[in-house]
Amino acid sequence: MKISDTIAEYQKQNKTFYSFEYFPPKTDFGLQNLYNRIDRMAALNPAFIDITWGAGGSTADLSFDMAKTIQQYFGLNVLMHLTCTNMPEGELMKVLEKAKDSGISNILALRGDPPEGGSGWKQCQDGFSYAKDLVACIRSTYGNDFCIGVAGYPEGHSEQPDAELGIKHLKEKVDAGADFIVTQLFYDTDKFFRFRDRAQSQGIDVPIIPGLMPIHNFSRFKKFTKFADINVPKQIIDELETIKNDDSKVIEYGIQQACAMSERLISEGVDGLHFYTLNLEHSVSHIIKRLGLSNAAGTAKNMPWRQSSDKRRSLKEEVRPIYWSNRPVSYLTRTHNWDAFPNGRWGDSSSPSFGELNTYHVIRHASKNDKINDKRKEIWGEPKSEEDVAKVFSKFCAGEIPILPWCELPLAMESDNISEKLTKLNARGFLTINSQPKINGVKSEDPVHGWGNSGGRIYQKAYLEFFTSKNNLDAIMTKLPQNPSITLQAVNNNDEYLHNFEKNHVTAVTWGVFPEKEIIQPTIVDSQSFKIWKAEAFNLWLDEWAVCYPKDSSSYNLLKEIHDSFYLVNIVDHDFVDGDIFSLFEL
Ligand code: FAD
Repeated sequence: MKISDTIAEYQKQNKTFYSFEYFPPKTDFGLQNLYNRIDRMAALNPAFIDITWGAGGSTADLSFDMAKTIQQYFGLNVLMHLTCTNMPEGELMKVLEKAKDSGISNILALRGDPPEGGSGWKQCQDGFSYAKDLVACIRSTYGNDFCIGVAGYPEGHSEQPDAELGIKHLKEKVDAGADFIVTQLFYDTDKFFRFRDRAQSQGIDVPIIPGLMPIHNFSRFKKFTKFADINVPKQIIDELETIKNDDSKVIEYGIQQACAMSERLISEGVDGLHFYTLNLEHSVSHIIKRLGLSNAAGTAKNMPWRQSSDKRRSLKEEVRPIYWSNRPVSYLTRTHNWDAFPNGRWGDSSSPSFGELNTYHVIRHASKNDKINDKRKEIWGEPKSEEDVAKVFSKFCAGEIPILPWCELPLAMESDNISEKLTKLNARGFLTINSQPKINGVKSEDPVHGWGNSGGRIYQKAYLEFFTSKNNLDAIMTKLPQNPSITLQAVNNNDEYLHNFEKNHVTAVTWGVFPEKEIIQPTIVDSQSFKIWKAEAFNLWLDEWAVCYPKDSSSYNLLKEIHDSFYLVNIVDHDFVDGDIFSLFEL
């Protein structure tokens, strides 16, 4: 969706929007953590999020990959920054063409900063001199295909001391076709209002979105404001001086200061607030909540999973197998080329064939990157026994470590009430990688389990998926006859497949009943896609975990042994009213 349309929508509802800026992290591991963070912050319903273009084009590929991933897979509206530094016109056009193909419809058109360590900005051969040239080029080539934002400077731009000339140059960008302006960060609200008044008096009538950077840390704050030449009111400096050595007090001060600024900006009629998050979550999330803006858009999730904003997909896709719920990017990558998405019932889809994962950039270079492997070792340790491996899984369920090879995202909030049981199960060698509790008719507006239209009721069957040894599997299989409400399927890496239900059957494990609508069954368990998932799930033992250790080391051999001998098992308890899926494990 174009940001100009989103802003108009908020204006119509008389509501204030907010948006979050992120920058590409330095490592793939950092990227994975950032995706988790963005996914959590998406629950705050930002109007859009933006991804910066590294100074001098240093992160061009990653910026584009991130913008595409977030737009398509996280279902968020993305504003991709694009700069002219080191980019001849032909290269800029290539990026815009790819952006258009990927469904990115918002570009922040910038001249750009010089590369790090570079002295001053230089126009490259066949490139543009100013942001206004990029704006004009996008408009002349693509008409209205893109919504275009540009940068504004309430305190003036470092290369232009004359404020009137600065406004004149801003007006040229708007006249060339810009739809909105995002400002440089500032701490002096009066300066923003003077800038806005001056811009409006010169005929600039597009929305001007103020940029805010909450203060997180005293020395970083001083460094940033000095680097960007931002004036900080004396009162802020004086107040910070008294608490500068206590980080938690500085963070709380930053939240209060940003809230006070935001309240004043809102009362003076800004359409929205733009937050420079510095890839951090705590402060911005608190600010949004304290301002009482977090339900600004008023929309709960449409589906239990985060929907893609790719229209081709979001309008038609109604069903997903549960197996990938903790690896959504992998699922969406594998199904990217489908020409039809399952709707109504899984069986309606014309035999979906899952693609390979070779375009999955999150794991693309994982096995070759020593730094990532060191970081993983730090988190997962160097297991020497099956008990050590079980401890890693237990720690994940207890929230002590953020990630497992099978879980790109931390344990979902909805599993909070079973996390203690999961922790214990893991300690006993049932290595859980996916689960959901039973739900019997909670309201569709419920903040944890709710999704879909309001006025509906949500149901879930309890689900558990885990790796375990043949002995453990045999023990629970003997209990199946006394638990008729439970179905189970299990497979090992040699494709030995065990199950206690009819082959090829499909069970909905989440469904919703809504006024004047057919029942929606968006999450299923089936045997066909389980076999595809199985291959990915077993490979992760080696490709993501064992790879951290030298071949033939004891940790490598242990994980290889588990990969070769364990079963991947999933169980569904169909009694969503009285069932107790954990009773199967009372051995
Ligand atoms: P322009 O609008 O082209 O202005 C550059 C300078 O040229 C200004 O001094 C202007 O007054 C002057 N000028 C403009 N037109 C004329 C003219 N006709 N004649 C003479 N002088 C003229 N940098 C990055 O590298 N990556 C990012 O992702 C990024 N994101 C940003 C996001 C925001 C919201 C902001 C505010 C800045 C961002 N920047 C980013 C920094 C930005 O690239 C720099 O501030 C850069 O120096 C100016 O970019 P601009 O698009 O404002 O340039």
